[in-house]
Amino acid sequence: MSERVHNFNAGPSALPRVVLEQARDEMLDFEGTGMSIMEHSHRGAAYERVHNEAEALLRELLGIDPSSVVLFLQGGASGAFATVPMNFLRGCADYAVTGGWGEKALAEAQIVGDARDCLGMQRRYMHVPPPAAHTVRPGSSYLHITTNNTLEGTQYHRFPDAPVPLVADMSSDILSRRVDASRFAMIYAGAQKNLGPSGLTVFVIQRAFLDTARTDLPVIFRFATHAAQQGLYHTPPTFAVYLMRGVLRWMKALGGVDVVEARNDEKARVLYAAIDDRPDVYRCPVEPASRSRMNVVFYLPSTDLDERFVKEAKGAGIVGVKGHRSVGGVRASLYNAVEPSDVAALVEFMKDFAGRVA
Ligand SMILES: *Cc1c(COP(=O)(O)O)cnc(C)c1O
Repeated sequence: MSERVHNFNAGPSALPRVVLEQARDEMLDFEGTGMSIMEHSHRGAAYERVHNEAEALLRELLGIDPSSVVLFLQGGASGAFATVPMNFLRGCADYAVTGGWGEKALAEAQIVGDARDCLGMQRRYMHVPPPAAHTVRPGSSYLHITTNNTLEGTQYHRFPDAPVPLVADMSSDILSRRVDASRFAMIYAGAQKNLGPSGLTVFVIQRAFLDTARTDLPVIFRFATHAAQQGLYHTPPTFAVYLMRGVLRWMKALGGVDVVEARNDEKARVLYAAIDDRPDVYRCPVEPASRSRMNVVFYLPSTDLDERFVKEAKGAGIVGVKGHRSVGGVRASLYNAVEPSDVAALVEFMKDFAGRVA
């Protein structure tokens, strides 16, 4: 078998090796049933066990009590950009736009109703404003935030204390650190960054908030429909849920969220140190207090050097470090499944590269 690469993809992204190995071993015969988990009915006992265990693990790791529902649906975080306002926007809603994904969420909400950006950063997304900057209109249905800005490399380190329900797109940092889930009326995340493969979107919704949802929309788009059927209103992405269960088992075996968070902090510390160590070659545009532990964005002195970096990194087995097309530069995503040894390889390459081009 060829060597696996150091994968810093922004999403879909690296998965724990043991999870892929187990999926391989069980591909033709899941637990002696003579078929793959993909071939099982989503209402059969085999899949039901997988689904329930995935939900239980997610509840345990995120710290979610029975006052919230957990749903595994299709449609991606982009689907949620539309379904969140369709279900919950009455009158008006406020959006804290701290990056490109927040812009997209706001744009969808504005199709549904009166939604406004409460920050007005005007596309200068090099930091995340302090909690006090998040002003909400009276009667607002909710405040929407993006906890980690995947494209720009910024992250909330203190969440706003909103006087209205707080809704969070946690696609790129869910379960990367301990958060107080009870602060959020709703959390959603595309699975393909920290939880598993693409095709699966995770929702955590407080029942009291769900009770405020509108009913004047197609049945399939109502969160209440899915909650009433324990997430099995229609076929869930069964194989993706199965893989997520593997990822959550892996996280728990590693020691849970606190251990994963400490690992992530250390990975980010090492990489930012390598950037700051060579200001003549590498420059991180993000204000230090807002730096993301998940997506590390940096630039070299010219776009030619950015390109050369990405190309030569690939030669060293380091892939997925090209910056997003909207911001350019270099981006290394350090999601949970990225190993400290992958970061060590990247840092080693950066030192070598800097020595050659400086
Ligand atoms: C990747 C990403 C999205 C888009 O997710 P899809 O599942 O592709 O729709 C939305 N928000 C954030 C913060 C992301 O990182």
